[in-house]
Amino acid sequence: MWQLRDQLTEAALHRFDVALAVQMTVDALRRVGLDPWRVSLAVLSLHPSLAGVGFTWRHDSPEVTRTERPWGFLQAPEHQASPLQRVMSSRLTLRCRLALGEGADEFALLRQFAAQGATDYAAFPLFSPRPDVHVFSICTVRSGGWTADEIALVEGVLPTLALVIEVFEAHRLTSRERIDLLLLAHTDRLTRLLNRHGVLLEGTNRFGTGRRCVAIYLDLDGLKGVNDRMGHLFGDEIIRTAAERIAAALPPDAVAGRMGGDEFLVFADEEQAHLAEALRASLSEPYLVRGVNFNITASVGVADDEGVTVDELARRADLAMLISKQSGKNRVTCYVQGTDVQHARRERIGQVLPLALARSELRIAVQPIVVLATGALVHGECLARWTSPELGVVTPDEFIPLAEQSGDIALLDRLVLRRALATLVELAAEGARPVPLSVNVSAKDSSLSSVDDSIARELSLHGVAPDQIVVELTESVFINRFGLALSQLKRLRDLGISISLDDFGTGYSSLSYLQRLPFDYIKIDRSLIAVLPSERTRAIIESIIGLGRALNARVIAEGVETAEQRDCLLELGCEFAQGFLFSRPLELESWKALVRGSAPGG
Ligand code: C2E
Ligand code: CA
Ligand code: CA
Repeated sequence: MWQLRDQLTEAALHRFDVALAVQMTVDALRRVGLDPWRVSLAVLSLHPSLAGVGFTWRHDSPEVTRTERPWGFLQAPEHQASPLQRVMSSRLTLRCRLALGEGADEFALLRQFAAQGATDYAAFPLFSPRPDVHVFSICTVRSGGWTADEIALVEGVLPTLALVIEVFEAHRLTSRERIDLLLLAHTDRLTRLLNRHGVLLEGTNRFGTGRRCVAIYLDLDGLKGVNDRMGHLFGDEIIRTAAERIAAALPPDAVAGRMGGDEFLVFADEEQAHLAEALRASLSEPYLVRGVNFNITASVGVADDEGVTVDELARRADLAMLISKQSGKNRVTCYVQGTDVQHARRERIGQVLPLALARSELRIAVQPIVVLATGALVHGECLARWTSPELGVVTPDEFIPLAEQSGDIALLDRLVLRRALATLVELAAEGARPVPLSVNVSAKDSSLSSVDDSIARELSLHGVAPDQIVVELTESVFINRFGLALSQLKRLRDLGISISLDDFGTGYSSLSYLQRLPFDYIKIDRSLIAVLPSERTRAIIESIIGLGRALNARVIAEGVETAEQRDCLLELGCEFAQGFLFSRPLELESWKALVRGSAPGG
């Protein structure tokens, strides 16, 4: 039966040929040993501009014949007792064992069939997205009639036949009627936006004639987690709210639809380039469902180009969205020539990374953190480095988000930790001055929830004192998983490990939680340092430094590249710094050499 369904779908989507679909059904019934004596399909349109169409196959002719019937023929009195009408109004399967005399009194047609030797007649309703109901019927002369299995078999292919008819009907209409009806049939029930077919059709309709437009593909981040934790009712409510926000942000001429799941597609005028960012921001506002607050964000892809079809534009926007997903989510990515190649590379990185971790292909580089005023070495940050035999140098910005997505990040973080500990052990054995190392711990649950046990075990395995390790956590961790982050933080502190708040000032900046969390260091994000010495940034940095003092945390400026930035930071009272001005991340051997040569007590 599956094969038949595939064939029917093919007939529906590529040939628009109902007669062919009926013939295929007959052939399939005969192949499985059924002997239809007569098969017919009535396509009865309720649309006044359309005639009804009938398709009939009879045992004495090889072909399906097609007959046109005027619209409204069912309403005619002489057809009052037609089996077709009975099925259409009851919407139930009609079964008449003609050999037993059933139906023969009621229906003239069946009386006629019975006289010709027919034993069993069955008529099935076929539902259309419009109010129309079509009827498929089969009749046999075999003694004993249809078996229950045979009836079930026919019922199994009805949805596909219904699809064939839907497409066929759409092609019989004039273009305006077709669009009206398709729009009706192509509305998404949950959100009332267009569905996948609808948005592509309407997009083609408005923009397919060479008018320049942008396609914006939006995908909610983290909805799966909501569905898993809270159930689909919550998930559906979030999708509905997201759809409302999209509709509210839509300029007059734009088209929006739900592509399925938590994915949406928008077509808009090319002037609306800012729309993608506006939609991302709006979809990333918190969602309040039944008193529960959800922090969901959106990954967005944009494509604009002249001379490609609307479908191709949508495909490109989708691809760009995937890049957004893979590079950390909650962002807008524009399709550019080469995005396909970039996408292929990412796919490959995702495939190769687990193997690389298993084979320990990752190494670490260490970047010095220094006293801003003197340049003296304080500690070093371990950064993951990967040169793949197949892909060449892969940067952390490429592989960290993928590892976070796949759950490999816990393994990666542990690998880096082990390399850091091995380095500390080696230098200590040589009698070098102890210079602590910091490691990054991902904000992802997979890494965070095991970090305390993992670090405690590794420390004791290597015999390294806890004050030699600093753990860097980004502030986003406290936004998403405050409870988990807080308990992990406390356990790490209890172990005697220092904690550094990484990338501080990148936008989350809710200062209230800082007071409840004990940090040893606060690292000012390099995006803030990069815009020094602007007045506004000076003020922000000054307040961060003040905050550090109040909380007893020491402040490190990240990404210091110029002497001007250094002087400005010194003036503001910043204590430590990390950046290219002092040193790039060093390969491990160079780091060891630096530590061996560094003056004690620096
Ligand atoms: P991060 O933790 O903020 O690390 C500092 C990044 O800033 C490093 O990039 C470093 O090379 C770069 N950097 C340092 N000084 C300068 C400067 O003066 N100017 C500029 N423009 N950049 C500077 P990298 O090594 O590419 O790492 C990127 C991010 O990847 C890291 O940001 C961190 O979030 C993540 N990452 C790296 N290694 C690991 C790891 O082992 N585990 C986890 N979970 N994440 C890691
Ligand atoms: Ca870091
Ligand atoms: Ca950082």
